[in-house]
Amino acid sequence: MQLTDAEIREILRQQKIKKKRKLRTRRRITILIVLVLIALAVYFIKGQIDTIVAENTPPRGIIFIDPGHGGKDPGSGNGARYEKEDTLRLALAVRTYLEEAGFQVFMSHTEDEDVDRIRRGEMANECGAQLMVSIHRNKADTGGDGVEAFIPKDNNAESRLLGTNILRNLAAQGFTLRSVRAGTLQSTEEDYDENAYSKMPSCLVEVGFLSNMHDNELFDNNLENNAKAIANAIDDTFRTLYEPAAGTDGTTDGSAGGTAGDAASGEANDTASSEANGSANGTANSVQDTSTEAGAANGAAGTSTEAGAQGSAADTASGTSDTSAQAGTADNTSNTSG
Ligand SMILES: [Zn+2]
Repeated sequence: MQLTDAEIREILRQQKIKKKRKLRTRRRITILIVLVLIALAVYFIKGQIDTIVAENTPPRGIIFIDPGHGGKDPGSGNGARYEKEDTLRLALAVRTYLEEAGFQVFMSHTEDEDVDRIRRGEMANECGAQLMVSIHRNKADTGGDGVEAFIPKDNNAESRLLGTNILRNLAAQGFTLRSVRAGTLQSTEEDYDENAYSKMPSCLVEVGFLSNMHDNELFDNNLENNAKAIANAIDDTFRTLYEPAAGTDGTTDGSAGGTAGDAASGEANDTASSEANGSANGTANSVQDTSTEAGAANGAAGTSTEAGAQGSAADTASGTSDTSAQAGTADNTSNTSG
């Protein structure tokens, strides 16, 4: 059969259209591939740059976090619950928040491991830590609740500030506020090894009582916020002690003022003064019995009159007690932030 010229032309036209379509599709696919490749390249390069920046940005500071107990030493227990597990859980979360805030964090252990208590203090020195916090949980045969901190027996103002900030933030999470104590539970003349062997400002913090159901609920149901509270307190303390210039732009005024206000209003409330006076004098004090009350007074005053107390922190503190450690903290804080 013979095709007419018109038919041949039509076939050629159809072929041309098909070819054009194919070309167009191919071009579109090529463009798409190129775009995807460009996107991937940008993503990859940006990732590399971010890594390089992160690697070359020096950390704000070095913090040592010690989860109390571990391995063969379970710490306190309550049924199937062990202190060493609670402290590790919380410490790991604290580390995350500190790293997010730009700190380099070292830990005595990150798994269920036995580490000598003296060694923990030495490790903090070896890694050049600027602050050290050892995390524990309390236990009592009867009664007892709340958060408490132990600082070195020399009652240095920097460690006291660290302990005070941590307890303040944990109390804001619902824990009863006990006190910051110099020395050990038994004696103001002795130190816990972690405090004795570490050379930077340090404290042991007892995050509620294992023996208290309510404290355990506060611990378990709010773990991330508790960790954040501790990390923020460490951050605040670090800023006051090592980044004093930051205080002039007002960023630390709030927290520093809060500390001063707490101390001052605690004193002003007069039930709270036993803790500050007792430990400042370095004598065996009556903290144990009155600390809960004192703490509660502190806490209440802290939340309700914080702002009002800020201005008169130094005045009130020095008016109440010349040798008070809390007054010292208030003075320091006012100076640094002001
Ligand atoms: Zn412990």
